[in-house]
Amino acid sequence: MTAKLTFELTESFEEALSFDEATTGGRYLRVEVSPLIDGCPLLASGGLVFDALSVLVSGATSAELDLYTCSCGVAGCAGIFEDCQCLVTEDSVNWRFPEEPFAKWFAPGMPLEIHFSLPGYVAALARLEGDLEARRAACGAPLLLAPCELVDERDLTEAAVPFHDFLQAKQAQHAEWLSALAEADET
Ligand SMILES: [Zn+2]
Repeated sequence: MTAKLTFELTESFEEALSFDEATTGGRYLRVEVSPLIDGCPLLASGGLVFDALSVLVSGATSAELDLYTCSCGVAGCAGIFEDCQCLVTEDSVNWRFPEEPFAKWFAPGMPLEIHFSLPGYVAALARLEGDLEARRAACGAPLLLAPCELVDERDLTEAAVPFHDFLQAKQAQHAEWLSALAEADET
């Protein structure tokens, strides 16, 4: 059985912090993304933040990642010390959550391992990306995905571009980081 993945978006306008006199802060649209599994929230309550940027950056490739994190962006702060597995096969994508601490956060009956069809998963991410760009374009402000509490002007300049460009820049950074990691492994 494969599940249908959709996303629920919650948005609010926030003011960036000024860390010194040289920066003036600025307004941005903060968007929190929550995955829905067959239309149902994965978590029983709030408290953890879904890391939508990591999910969009890794796309349909197998990876170990923090699908959820603390609202401050540090997973360990919310008692998450083990990565989630995103396992991609030729026709499916599987999310596997470690029992600790997710068993206690999940909605009753929600399994710790969730299977999506590969085309369904790819389409869900593309829809999310399209929705985010539509919201950014409509609000005329930089768009930042939660968790993003501590932002200053540099982050806002980065996030003021069309969401697709922002995402591609993050994917390029991620690819660079992966190849640096692979090189470090070889030596
Ligand atoms: Zn925290």
